[in-house]
Amino acid sequence: MHRTERRLEILKLWVDPVDMAGALMTVERFVDHGERPHSVFAVNPEKNFSVPRDPDLHEQFKNADLLIPDGIGVVLAARLLHRARLSRVPGVELMGEICRLSAAKGYRVFLYGAQEEVSAKAAELLGRRHPALQIVGRANGFVPEHEMPALVARINASGAQVLFLALGSPRQERWFAQHAGELTSVRVCQGIGGTLDTIAGTVRRAPRFWCRLNLEWLYRLLAQPSRIRRQRALPLFAGKVIIAKLKRLVLPHRSADQFFTSP
Ligand code: UDP
Repeated sequence: MHRTERRLEILKLWVDPVDMAGALMTVERFVDHGERPHSVFAVNPEKNFSVPRDPDLHEQFKNADLLIPDGIGVVLAARLLHRARLSRVPGVELMGEICRLSAAKGYRVFLYGAQEEVSAKAAELLGRRHPALQIVGRANGFVPEHEMPALVARINASGAQVLFLALGSPRQERWFAQHAGELTSVRVCQGIGGTLDTIAGTVRRAPRFWCRLNLEWLYRLLAQPSRIRRQRALPLFAGKVIIAKLKRLVLPHRSADQFFTSP
């Protein structure tokens, strides 16, 4: 996909108005017709605060090839600020769909990230789930810097077209910024954070019931109270979206941007 003019600005980040089918079609196009690695990153309320703190990372998101509406916060913000009716494209589900697509189309897949046992277990389970899936390599996420050239060489030698980066955010986005130019066969890099832990079963995803009620964030908070620091972003994000909306209603000629950049 070409970055669309329809990319929506959500406070200090952006999101593409894609649903799961659209995201998958875009990924397929990147692999079949692309000539370089394309970045697929997830957008959520927490990143709205963390990403802009680092100008390079912010630029990286701005130039990303596909920004998926990962969480309900972004979906609701898009509705309020742009009247856009998005549906969630959770990164964990998109990864599953990309594996299914890769198995069907013969795309070669490389997994990079997570603890060694998690990576090994996830690769095994993915292979079982998608018997035709070609997992041509994997590496845990604790490769020392001086071994990075060897890892990049290994990814290139594997001929992988799809690279899943499971280093957590912003590590995975930074890795892409630094190394995308060295990747020769990769056409799609999806930042999947802790998804391999979910697949391996070391972290449980919220049961369907919670997801259906859009309460996945609450489930994760209850399951891992240590996430409270990260989830503090949620009410703050909601407050900022509401303020932006109110300001737009009162002063419709000003762009939402100005409210956050003016001193
Ligand atoms: N991780 C890694 N290398 C590191 C630090 C973290 O591979 O140097 C992995 C970690 O093992 C976990 C994932 O990155 O699998 C981070 O998951 P988290 O849920 O924190 O990421 P998020 O989905 O919130 O970005």
